[in-house]
Amino acid sequence: MEDVVVMFPSLGIGHLISMVELGELIITQDPSLSITILLTPEHYEATATADYMKTVTKTTPSITFHHLPPLDHPPDSSIPFYDLVFQLVKQYRPILKDTLKSISNKSTIKAAILDFMSNDAFEICTGLGIPTYYLFTGSAFGAGIMLYLQMMLKNLPGSLKDLEVCLEAPGTPPIHSRDMPITLQDRNSYSYENLISTSNNMGKSFGIIVNTFAALEPRVMKALADGEYVPDGPTPPTYYVGPLIKSNKTSSDGDNNKCLEWLSLQPSKSVVVLIFGSLGKLKRDQLMEMAKGLEKSGQRFLWVVRNPPPENGPGDAFELKDPSLDDLLPEGFLERTKDKGLVVKNWAPQGEILRHDSVGGFVCHCGWNSVLEAMHAGVPLVAWPLYAEQKMNRVHLVEGIKVALRLKMTEDGFVTAEELAERLKELMEEESGRKIRDHVSKMSECAKAAVVDGGSSRVSVAEFVDSLKSLRPLEQHVFQG
Ligand code: UDP
Repeated sequence: MEDVVVMFPSLGIGHLISMVELGELIITQDPSLSITILLTPEHYEATATADYMKTVTKTTPSITFHHLPPLDHPPDSSIPFYDLVFQLVKQYRPILKDTLKSISNKSTIKAAILDFMSNDAFEICTGLGIPTYYLFTGSAFGAGIMLYLQMMLKNLPGSLKDLEVCLEAPGTPPIHSRDMPITLQDRNSYSYENLISTSNNMGKSFGIIVNTFAALEPRVMKALADGEYVPDGPTPPTYYVGPLIKSNKTSSDGDNNKCLEWLSLQPSKSVVVLIFGSLGKLKRDQLMEMAKGLEKSGQRFLWVVRNPPPENGPGDAFELKDPSLDDLLPEGFLERTKDKGLVVKNWAPQGEILRHDSVGGFVCHCGWNSVLEAMHAGVPLVAWPLYAEQKMNRVHLVEGIKVALRLKMTEDGFVTAEELAERLKELMEEESGRKIRDHVSKMSECAKAAVVDGGSSRVSVAEFVDSLKSLRPLEQHVFQG
């Protein structure tokens, strides 16, 4: 029977890409394995995801996408986004169980790799005797905090959202309660309950695969290796295999070409890129203010603009209707900046853009895939966190690993035109910006060295694949009898 590794990513293209790239590395390391990636039909950005999957299917036949059927009663899409993500996996548990059983009739499931947001599948997999690993699509810093969560939160007198405290974790700067992930702010919320369970299960898993590379986060990795994050038990093996980023899968449609052609006309390292992840949507007044800031800064820019989020309720997080730029941006802005700036609607090929020689800075929402793409390309950051765990990432990026400048913002996240203009000038023209740029250039060399043969991340993938070989037969065959 064929040996299969089953993977279960979470929603969103960032989670999908790192899982697929990991799958490719595993089968490169051991071509006798094949990979089955289970996908729910819900909530992927349609075009970018479909393009990406089409290319993977063409180039890597040992990776199969297994589309799970739609739920009869999907969760109510008006609940908070992260509750929805967790709820979805929970509701998929019976289907998942049947699917795994049916895969195991034809193949030997060597292991399951779950996204940390797909934690509700953990008990299904382990109950079926499948050695289960986690892919942590964030940083080693995030993985450490996830393992340490209960230590960090114990003895707090209430929910983080109601407190003004600084939290400590091994190897990290202090983190203010309001910078902790949105999903942990309310200790009575569904997402909080899920993350505590994820923390427990990660500690019991066969191993944690982290999308990072050795040179980027040495302090946190040392604390993890020293067992500081799991004080009363063994820390599961950790594998640092990144950067897992979309490498050569360029789709050459009109918009992609437009960005790259425009960049080719700009001087080396002169352009600031402003892109806010797969979900980032800025309010109308912020878009106006941002445009003013860009003009004021005098910098060249490539800016992806989306419609503001709906005013009542969350709406469909992945929906991308074409924005009307004339309505959203100040009068005459596009005309006045046409020699210095390019505004793109909704989506741009971020990976290729960051790798372009004309790019010199990136205003980034601190999503980890974006951070890694920037580190790999050697592009320094201005941190503008928006959602999820991004404020916590900012602490790590600005104070911990020093690859980003901090942008001042009001409590509800508003950034003034003056502040944006000043930070952009600082990044592109001043000594403090140069220091960050130099450090990020070194990180870029390290990121590239980590992923060639013999590099730290490739060695780590080999160790992970070896760990599969040494699993005891009992654990692999429980449900074949
Ligand atoms: N992305 C892109 N073009 C866009 C916006 C996002 O290619 O216009 C890609 C980006 O390169 C990254 C992913 O979408 O690979 C976003 O992942 P990240 O972890 O940075 O943020 P998330 O969307 O999960 O918040």
